[in-house]
Amino acid sequence: MNLLESLIHEIIAQDGPISLERYMTLALAHPELGYYRSRQPFGAEGDFITAPEISQMFGELIGLWSVEIWRGMGAPNPVRFVELGPGRGVLMADALRAARVAPDFLQAIDLRFVETSEPLREVQRLALAGSGVAVAWHARVEEVPAGPAIFVANEFFDALPVRHYVCAEGGWRERLVGLDCEGKLGFGLAPEPELKLAAAGERGEILELGVAAIELMSALALRIASQGGALLALDYGYDAPARGETLQALRRHRFADPLRDPGEADLTTHVDFRALSLAAAAAGAQPHGPVAQGEFLRRLGIFERAAALRRKADARQSAGIDSALERLAGGSGAPTDMANLFKALAVTPRSFPAPAGFETGQA
Ligand code: SAH
Repeated sequence: MNLLESLIHEIIAQDGPISLERYMTLALAHPELGYYRSRQPFGAEGDFITAPEISQMFGELIGLWSVEIWRGMGAPNPVRFVELGPGRGVLMADALRAARVAPDFLQAIDLRFVETSEPLREVQRLALAGSGVAVAWHARVEEVPAGPAIFVANEFFDALPVRHYVCAEGGWRERLVGLDCEGKLGFGLAPEPELKLAAAGERGEILELGVAAIELMSALALRIASQGGALLALDYGYDAPARGETLQALRRHRFADPLRDPGEADLTTHVDFRALSLAAAAAGAQPHGPVAQGEFLRRLGIFERAAALRRKADARQSAGIDSALERLAGGSGAPTDMANLFKALAVTPRSFPAPAGFETGQA
């Protein structure tokens, strides 16, 4: 049993079974032992690989997208340029390099990273060292100073904890993490139903509620509606009302049991884009999309960017560009995971036209 697991056992012995939300918060974000606090999960040797780590094209296109949205906002100076959960800082390093075509943008941005992990902050600092742009860190979005702001979040919302409710005797009962008869962590149900959940369901069905993601989206949308700005969120997720759970533990590119070895595996869920869009609209902002990530990147010109890179590449590099293109944007039309299952959602003030990549009526 690892240290974090014994700590969770102690908490359960003291407080009784805890919600899945609290369990996920401990497993991911415990200050010393949480997954994101204590390790570097990315890359071929890590537990998963993200789009900016696959190709520089991803961050570059997002950099150019940000320049364009900033011009659409009337080019405010200063503008907060905020990345949520920047990982190894690769996306932002690529975005800032691409944005050199717009020196006025680089001059106007006040760069802010929202990141809780100390080891990752250090990696991010090194990644931006050559960019010529200063960055300030915050542990929470609420700490970012007021004013117009462009927020970018790649694979951030999927790392926020969720609650599960199971349709059982008397109604929806919250799924709790407790100790089973062998003394191991196991799932159980709250003794009383949650009366605020009025949805119909079938016995045994699970409802997954990303309360933390919805609350974060509401706060960002409220800010964008009142102070100006935009948000671009990219994540693995779905856009239709869905039932069932999507909780996954990933360790060294393999699925693992979410209740084993907490803090050593990444815990994620698929993002409920419908819920996030509704939250953004309810807060007075305008959601755009979601659009499949492959389609979004194609509309932003990933093919043209790949062609430009290939002109300066040798045969081995060209093959790398082609395989990255295929993974990110489904170059051959194959339904690869990243191109079709990942989605992009934008949020702007209500009067704002659809940002690049989110134009409707396009194939
Ligand atoms: N955007 C990066 C990394 C995604 S992983 C990429 O695409 O490669 C999630 C990132 O969010 C990590 O940097 C992690 O440390 C950070 N993170 C996770 N939960 C967080 C929270 N609640 N607050 C701030 N940062 C968080």
